[in-house]
Amino acid sequence: MEFNDDVALDTSQVQDMRGSGGGGVGSRVALGGGGLGIVGMILYFVLSQLGGLPQGSPISTRDVGQGQTVSNSDLSKECRTGKDANTNSDCALVAIINSIQGYWTDAFARSGSTYQAAPTNFFTGGVNTACGSATSDVGPFYCPGDQEIYIDLAFFKELQTRFGAQGGTFAEAYVIAHEYGHHVQTLLGTSDKVKRGTGPTSDAVRLELQADCYAGVWANHATSVPTSSGKPLIKSISQDDVNRALDVAARIGDDFIQENLGSGQVDESQFSHGSSKQRERWFTAGLNTGDPAQCDTFSARDLG
Ligand SMILES: [Zn+2]
Repeated sequence: MEFNDDVALDTSQVQDMRGSGGGGVGSRVALGGGGLGIVGMILYFVLSQLGGLPQGSPISTRDVGQGQTVSNSDLSKECRTGKDANTNSDCALVAIINSIQGYWTDAFARSGSTYQAAPTNFFTGGVNTACGSATSDVGPFYCPGDQEIYIDLAFFKELQTRFGAQGGTFAEAYVIAHEYGHHVQTLLGTSDKVKRGTGPTSDAVRLELQADCYAGVWANHATSVPTSSGKPLIKSISQDDVNRALDVAARIGDDFIQENLGSGQVDESQFSHGSSKQRERWFTAGLNTGDPAQCDTFSARDLG
């Protein structure tokens, strides 16, 4: 994918906590945040992660930084325009986040409502959120409690080394757009309605597939989302880019993870995010139609 050189980036949509206490050796923080019990926090993570990633415990006091602070001074210096996004991977993520939120701002406005912007937090090792403390093991996630997205960018390397994905900027864009899909679901009240539980037709799976579809909807519009300059931030997306996003979608499917990174056996009753095929299908549905109304996974009788 390519960015238009002369379009300004808005680094205020990213909170860079990488330079702070996150991941510091020896730091110990009690489970905190939001007055939620552990069950509530685990539920949030199950609902809002990118995939049902294999891990020890999703909630941990290990490696979680104390006194985490946001410092955007480096980002705001490095990431000024689309030109920087073309040469610097941090800036590319800023541009992608700007584009995703630009699209949803317009889409909400068209339907007579207001999109509330959500920041993405870059962290290393561990992070404290309104949903509790989390280590990088959980993968990227959205916390409905504070309506913020959290990502340790090391995950993108892991996608290649551990999941065997091809990777690439647009594959990363799919991951981020999926998390913003959860934010849209929270704003629309969809997330509140889901019932607990796992399984191939569970609400959890339907919610995740809808987030994939919303990611595809943004991708459909990505090269035409207007900015204040009049020019879109994203200049082009190639077929190879789309293939790389689909490749990631396939590698974070429940069946792929169970087979290749878990027990080796596929157990549909434990599905929380949908199969590889389903995740590809719903991302594609959003990408091909560009219409959020086509992402009604809750009414779909056949999820694919
Ligand atoms: Zn998700």
